[in-house]
Amino acid sequence: MMFGKVKTCNPAECNLVILGVMGCGKSALTVKFLTKRFITEYDPNLEDVYSSEEVVDQQPVTLRVMDTCEQEGPVNSERYLSWANVFLVVYSIDNMESFNGCQLYLQTLASHNKTFRPQTPIILLGNKKDMDRYRQVRQSDGEALASHFGCVFFEVSACQDFHSVQQVFHEAVRRARKG
Ligand code: GDP
Ligand code: MG
Repeated sequence: MMFGKVKTCNPAECNLVILGVMGCGKSALTVKFLTKRFITEYDPNLEDVYSSEEVVDQQPVTLRVMDTCEQEGPVNSERYLSWANVFLVVYSIDNMESFNGCQLYLQTLASHNKTFRPQTPIILLGNKKDMDRYRQVRQSDGEALASHFGCVFFEVSACQDFHSVQQVFHEAVRRARKG
């Protein structure tokens, strides 16, 4: 008996790009997500793509994380704009400059999304929640900015529990799946 050709499904893939000004914690978040540890010794000028096999909502996915490093902000963004299936824009809650800086990223992504199909979802992330004593950016300001740009918003800390960091990356996969 002949069977129809079974379509082999490639495991799903998701490309995530982390953006934000230097020092907001992009690499710390990436390392935390990949190793469950908060590590502080790594090259601050290194930009790389890391890959991790994840299971999100019982479905396997190869998640690639591009940990960007841009001294000058989003001036050479072509390398990641069309590669990305989802963007994670990070600022540090104890640093108003990083919050201002992330708005430039959001504007760049918004204008990219004007012409790019399918639109690439964006998550806004306030990092260093453990630094609440030195907070310069109110949670409500983060929420307002996120809703202005139509993105989801979280606050986390790269040096606290792993699960809330993992949750952000997994939510990114969910958003990317929806397209
Ligand atoms: P990047 O330039 O965005 O990659 O920032 P890094 O990940 O290199 O982090 C910059 C500095 O902030 C480093 O000294 C980190 O150890 C520190 N850092 C990153 N995330 C956190 C956090 O959640 N809480 C605290 N207290 N420090 C953090
Ligand atoms: Mg870095």
